[in-house]
Amino acid sequence: MVVIGSGPAAVSAAERFRQIDPHSPVTVVTADAHPPYQRPPLSKDFLRGDTDSVRLHDPDWFTKRSIRVLTDSPVHDIDLAHSVVHCAAEDFAYQTLVIASGAAPAPLPVPGSDNAMLLRSLEDATRLRDQARGATTAVVIGAGFIGCEAAASLASRGLRVTVVAPEESPQRGRLGEQAGKRILQLLTDAGVHYIGGAEAHALESGVVHLDNGDTLRADMIVAATGISPNNALAEAAGLAVHEGRITVGADMATTAAGVYAAGDVALADNATAQRPVPTEHWQDAIDQGALAGAAAAGQPGTWGAVPGFWTTIGEATVKYSGWGGDFDNSYLIDHGDGFTVWYEADGAAVGILTHNADTEYALGQLLVAHRSRLPARL
Ligand SMILES: Cc1cc2nc3c(=O)[nH]c(=O)nc-3n(C[C@H](O)[C@H](O)[C@H](O)COP(=O)(O)OP(=O)(O)OC[C@H]3O[C@@H](n4cnc5c(N)ncnc54)[C@H](O)[C@@H]3O)c2cc1C
Repeated sequence: MVVIGSGPAAVSAAERFRQIDPHSPVTVVTADAHPPYQRPPLSKDFLRGDTDSVRLHDPDWFTKRSIRVLTDSPVHDIDLAHSVVHCAAEDFAYQTLVIASGAAPAPLPVPGSDNAMLLRSLEDATRLRDQARGATTAVVIGAGFIGCEAAASLASRGLRVTVVAPEESPQRGRLGEQAGKRILQLLTDAGVHYIGGAEAHALESGVVHLDNGDTLRADMIVAATGISPNNALAEAAGLAVHEGRITVGADMATTAAGVYAAGDVALADNATAQRPVPTEHWQDAIDQGALAGAAAAGQPGTWGAVPGFWTTIGEATVKYSGWGGDFDNSYLIDHGDGFTVWYEADGAAVGILTHNADTEYALGQLLVAHRSRLPARL
């Protein structure tokens, strides 16, 4: 088996394949310069300066499992007709292939966008952290979770940090007004200043021009404005791609025999939702990767888990489990030192967001998975 990528989807595909098939060669080919590492700490502990250790596994872990990992080896072509993957230095023939090429930060579509730093890789995070050492001010463009996390981490280092985003409060469009207000409070508690209702219009070195005519000056500018799946290889090979992601079934099989895709780059059918569900989360990438590895080893399964993520803004951890799509009603319960937001559609639970409310979160996961009704005003 050949695996493209070394993120959670790729490594879990290799691990699961090896558990089922102890003998066939497994090669992980990645564009990353580093052995497999964790991305979630990059905007949290790593950026705060609390840890340098983001390795996914010790080198031994791969050796013991006879999983060969080739770093610094971007794949530039997949030849489906001959079952070969081409890199600059080497070609890899495969019987089965897992594409887990993840995503890249979506570039900010404004003039001067190269004045903003991005955050996806360990190199990106190291650059940000190095620059933060000599900085006193930062502007973060975008109030998605990576933007909020990075802003809070920079603030914890003593920088004066401003987040600017079109939404009145972070994630308001996606998670509703009440959740947006709470996330804004967590951001403010972490010492971050938030400017909503404004978009970056143009950038210069150390300067962000907003569409409302205001100008922000800062030692560092970070753009955290979403991701673009790395689908170019798959598209060029002729695999079906929909909404920018590789189309796969609930077993992670693509439209080509013996070829699977998983993680951020895939658009997989979810058996519980009975529709394709895009995900951009760590645990979902692990789950999908394991399914792809199992299917490649001849034991196909079915993806039916409810997607979910956690985020840490300053000291506060927020968890979400749900289908991430539309909801027609949401309501918030204040627990004093935490909160729960329930989401429902057509009378059924479709999502839950919590802070310091793990019991509710566990209940919500069950209700969402079973499409149950929410108990009246829990
Ligand atoms: C800063 C940050 C913080 C995050 N925090 C959280 C969090 O708290 N909770 C959460 O649930 N999720 C979080 N995420 C999201 C999570 O990390 C991703 O959803 C997850 O990494 C996706 O895994 P993946 O394996 O699909 O892709 P990736 O992790 O993106 O890995 C893709 C791999 O493919 C390689 N690659 C790409 N193109 C090629 C090519 N042509 N040839 C060879 N290799 C290639 C890349 O080098 C990389 O190794 C965070 C992400 C970031 C960036």
